[in-house]
Amino acid sequence: MKIRLDKLISNMGYGSRSEIKKNAKKGLIKVNNVIEKNSGKLVDTEEDIVKYKDETIEYRQFIYLLMNKPKGYISATEDSYHETVLDLLDDYHKSFLPAPIGRLDIDTEGLLLLSNDGKFNHELTSPKKNVPKTYYVELARKIEDDYEKIFKKGIKLMPENIVTKPAEFKVLTEKTCELTIYEGKFHQVKRMFEEVGNRVIYLKRIKMGYFELPMDLEPGEYIELREEEIKL
Ligand code: URA
Repeated sequence: MKIRLDKLISNMGYGSRSEIKKNAKKGLIKVNNVIEKNSGKLVDTEEDIVKYKDETIEYRQFIYLLMNKPKGYISATEDSYHETVLDLLDDYHKSFLPAPIGRLDIDTEGLLLLSNDGKFNHELTSPKKNVPKTYYVELARKIEDDYEKIFKKGIKLMPENIVTKPAEFKVLTEKTCELTIYEGKFHQVKRMFEEVGNRVIYLKRIKMGYFELPMDLEPGEYIELREEEIKL
């Protein structure tokens, strides 16, 4: 891929484009071991070796982030009324233009993946892939004995008139549980509990496919995932 030198270096977290332009004039950029003073020059990310302040710049196209989404943020790239999860990213990570993979409601917390890799996004969100998503749920009323059976069988959701895929239910206490679903309909978990006469008062996603929310990741914090974890 061809990219401007200043964009390449800035995207990799080495400062703003104007700073890089100034440093190019000072002779701090080398392309294939030759000083390049024009920071607007196009380079080939596969062929050219770019050095900035004598450090080789490893070009990365994709970024993969795992966030503990806090309440009050929208899982979108822009919104007219609320802050989005992108507002929680630093400028370096934002510069890759990642998007949330799937959605969590504004009042839901927990595991949210973000990436600019469309294929990765598709692998996790395509309905055909049946990726499991596990939620920790706190309820307004006590859990009834028949929930497990009902959720396993599938429950009808209106107005779409669809039956949910078999879900796994694990009781934790009399009003808390874990629910694993294999699809992601609008407000699905809340609606499933409404259908059995209960109400979700707190919802947190703790797993999505292979990925788990680390216990020590506070709401609003995020970590970068390594390429090896993505390949798995
Ligand atoms: N189900 C819901 O109801 N809300 C979410 O945010 C995620 C799943």
